Amino acid sequence: MSKPEKIVAIKGMNDILPSDAPLWELFENTTETILKSYGYQKIVTPIVEQTSLFSRAIGAVTDIVEKEMYSFEDSMNGDQLTLRPEGTASVVRAVLEHNLVYDGPRRLWYKGPMFRHERPQRGRYRQFFQFGAEAIGFSGPDIDAELIMMCRRLWDDLGIENVRLELNSIGNAEERQRHRADLIAYLEQHDSILDAEAKRRLHSNPLRILDTKNPAMQEMVNAAPRLLDYLGEESLAHFNGVKFLLDQNAVQYTVNPRLVRGLDYYNRTVFEWVTDALGSQGTICAGGRYDPLVETFGGKATPAVGFAMGMERIIELMKAMGEPAEPNQCDVYMVHQGEKAQLQAFILAERIRDAGLDVVLHCATPAGAGSFKSQMKKADGSGAAFAVIIGEDEVANETAAVKTMRGEIGEQQQSTVPFLEVVDYLVDQITGAHVHDEHCGHDHDHVHKH
Ligand code: ATP
Ligand code: MG
Repeated sequence: MSKPEKIVAIKGMNDILPSDAPLWELFENTTETILKSYGYQKIVTPIVEQTSLFSRAIGAVTDIVEKEMYSFEDSMNGDQLTLRPEGTASVVRAVLEHNLVYDGPRRLWYKGPMFRHERPQRGRYRQFFQFGAEAIGFSGPDIDAELIMMCRRLWDDLGIENVRLELNSIGNAEERQRHRADLIAYLEQHDSILDAEAKRRLHSNPLRILDTKNPAMQEMVNAAPRLLDYLGEESLAHFNGVKFLLDQNAVQYTVNPRLVRGLDYYNRTVFEWVTDALGSQGTICAGGRYDPLVETFGGKATPAVGFAMGMERIIELMKAMGEPAEPNQCDVYMVHQGEKAQLQAFILAERIRDAGLDVVLHCATPAGAGSFKSQMKKADGSGAAFAVIIGEDEVANETAAVKTMRGEIGEQQQSTVPFLEVVDYLVDQITGAHVHDEHCGHDHDHVHKH
């Protein structure tokens, strides 16, 4: 029989392997702790939605809707469906569908995979993960500043230093309309410098041209009319309010008049956290206000603001910072020789887990259970604090050998402990405190480890 062809992952879609999992866990736990401490609540929405949700929310003339969506027809019923390219549209849909802002504003957060058909490269994948926060029903600059402060706290807690905040206001629709006329006139004057994409967007979405990454156009867009100069009194007051709160909290930022964000539904505050440490895909978090979105979904006018972080980019930044992540570790590795010992080990492992400790039981492979020596090697590699060893002698004596695994070889100790006392012995060793009598016997409370 010929060897079956190897199946590999889809280009631009990554596995997160166990060696990276502790870093992801550290990042996710830290982020969730911070979100909770600011009163944000978790929301989970489906990965697949109606295509129209995104085309309506994100806007037809955007990278995402023009060329990046994974859309398909449901072969069962012909529905037009899309793998979500971002989180905000789904969150707003869910908020309206379940009337979540009926009795006041909401602070929400989500995390999960997003899908965009882009050219895979460093920091740009076809499946990538985002953490996002959405504050829906708040209108003042205070919540904009809060979201930014929350990011600042996250970078601090993760030990990320080389990241800067870029800030802008893109005003409201009317202000953008006035700016747009002048911008188009300016761009038309520089027709010869515009690339094909810019020419295509000249009348449909000229603001997006300011966002260009084409080096040949940089000088020209730098000198283009600045939207900031078209802001009315209210938009200016809002923007000044955000800047004031950031100043008061010693958050540094640069106002970047060319920062417009890629999506249609933004207004007023827009911001990005950017680093130079990741090459050209340096934006690790992007956000802003999207007051008009809820109304375009048929809800009543509800202001809102949020951000989304690219998780792969932040993980890469954490790696670049040399962030030490705790390796995968367990408390106990169970070693055994012989059939009776295997049964004892299996039963004892369950009892130790009942007490709240993490236990890895040595299990057979096609090569067999392995020698005592090879099992001890596995115990070592597991990072376990203790090996519990049961051989024929131990079964006969109803005892187990408990060996300390971490520390210098000379310091390692081995004790003989009766089966019935192994659980308490381990709990005692690992927590450094005796378990009270009431917690002994068959009613073990879970122990709190250091
Ligand atoms: P860009 O201009 O770089 O394409 P974007 O405007 O499309 O960015 P957003 O939609 O604002 O990006 O997404 C928020 C964040 O999600 C980005 O700042 C980035 O960190 C991350 N992100 C976006 N697209 C990808 C991708 N294809 N792969 C990995 N991370 C991504
Ligand atoms: Mg993009």
